[in-house]
Amino acid sequence: MKKHVIYADNNATTQVAPEVVEEMMPYLTDLYGNASSIHTFGGQVRHAIDTGRERLANLLGAMPCEILFTSCGTESDNAAILSALETNVKRRKIVTTRVEHPAVLSLCTEMQQRGYHVEYCPVNHQGRLCVDALSKMVDDETALVSVMWANNETGNVHPIAQIAEMAHQHGALFHTDAVQAVGKIPMNLSKLSIDFLSLSGHKLHAPKGVGALYVRRGVKFHPFLRGGHQEHGLRAGTENVAGIVALGRAAQLAEGNMAEERTRVAAMRDRLESGLLRSCPDAKLNGSPDSRLPNTTNISFEYIEGESILLHLNQFDIAASSGSACTSGSLEPSHVMRAMGVPYTAAHGSVRFSLSRYNTNEDIDFILEKVPPIIHLLRDISPFGRDQ
Ligand code: PLP
Repeated sequence: MKKHVIYADNNATTQVAPEVVEEMMPYLTDLYGNASSIHTFGGQVRHAIDTGRERLANLLGAMPCEILFTSCGTESDNAAILSALETNVKRRKIVTTRVEHPAVLSLCTEMQQRGYHVEYCPVNHQGRLCVDALSKMVDDETALVSVMWANNETGNVHPIAQIAEMAHQHGALFHTDAVQAVGKIPMNLSKLSIDFLSLSGHKLHAPKGVGALYVRRGVKFHPFLRGGHQEHGLRAGTENVAGIVALGRAAQLAEGNMAEERTRVAAMRDRLESGLLRSCPDAKLNGSPDSRLPNTTNISFEYIEGESILLHLNQFDIAASSGSACTSGSLEPSHVMRAMGVPYTAAHGSVRFSLSRYNTNEDIDFILEKVPPIIHLLRDISPFGRDQ
């Protein structure tokens, strides 16, 4: 029998929605045609890809021709950044932030090694971008400004519309990594000056292995993968049909449920957050309470290790995260916590709870019951000791 897990790690990945599984299944079994084939069997698959594209475009307020399917958020980020540099060869500068995901930051480091100039905008202690500092960094040398829509660790939402305008005033392209934002908050790209937007299926209840890149109509795109003519010749490789069908259905579900789910999930998150801050001494919120994703809270329990808290939570089948899933292999505080200037003793004790529409009020009650005694126990044995 499937074990019941209190899953509060939805910024790492999400449960595939049952409706999504149902819709994609025929494309893993009976409908295995290749969309490029001439015969009707392949044609059915082509139609399914078109439907997936339309559904995703609807969620984003974009046109279907502006959507390229990819394999994941990381590929979308890499493709957007490299294309912006390739199509803008006279400009040798990238402006980004200190709190981007490694999918952006490690490529920027590589580009620096290849002779590009990269500037990293700082954030304040709440993780809010210093927009004035960013505006001073963007100039006529800038090929691309890349700023994430929402941060994976804190849930902070950045003022994307304003930053996109600023980039365009200097003739730079604008990319946003919206992997954490898509499906959680409303967006209408037809009203914004965004040139590229990255997203990933597995963060919005579709499976892993499918993502998408929005490329605004009229913006030049230099393909990242070369080969066949798939995706209008802009992204070669036989399409992941089941994944595309799944992402389309997940987008449709997100669009349909967004208004009510945002409110319900935010209410659970707020109850969890205020309950933990009240019941655990020396606990502090990381991130801005004002402009945040509805599902995320990140709390530092001072003087203890976040990883120890996670291991204790794991014994009760509660899944949460410390730092981002990609960085939690090391015991170093995450680059996001460091950029926010969170003190060492607090950065180490940071735990992220990220909810989804599959969480219930009973889940929140259970977490609220289990966390305080764990904190109490770990504080008693902490090597950091409060007096040291
Ligand atoms: N960008 C952000 C903000 C993320 O949170 C993640 C994944 O955690 C990624 C990019 C990478 O997405 P993917 O896992 O689909 O490659």
